[in-house]
Amino acid sequence: MIPVWFEDKKQILEWCRGFGINYIKEVCIFCSTPTNTWHENTNNPVCVKCAKTRKVSDIKEDWGQRIRARKRKGTFDRGNSTRAN
Ligand SMILES: [Zn+2]
Repeated sequence: MIPVWFEDKKQILEWCRGFGINYIKEVCIFCSTPTNTWHENTNNPVCVKCAKTRKVSDIKEDWGQRIRARKRKGTFDRGNSTRAN
């Protein structure tokens, strides 16, 4: 099981606005279904269905260095996102 969190929509929209881009729903890295849930430590979109059957070690790409660094320093802010599984 992969722990996944619902994205903080407000935070995402602000981030998109900052980059001047439109919000696009990300797709699950395993099944390509649009999803609003994320594996936090590697910063990858993973749907709840795949999270149930996969392991963190199945995730090939790691975009989470900055998140993990913030967690180590105690400065990580999850915003309003809540655990999805
Ligand atoms: Zn999936």
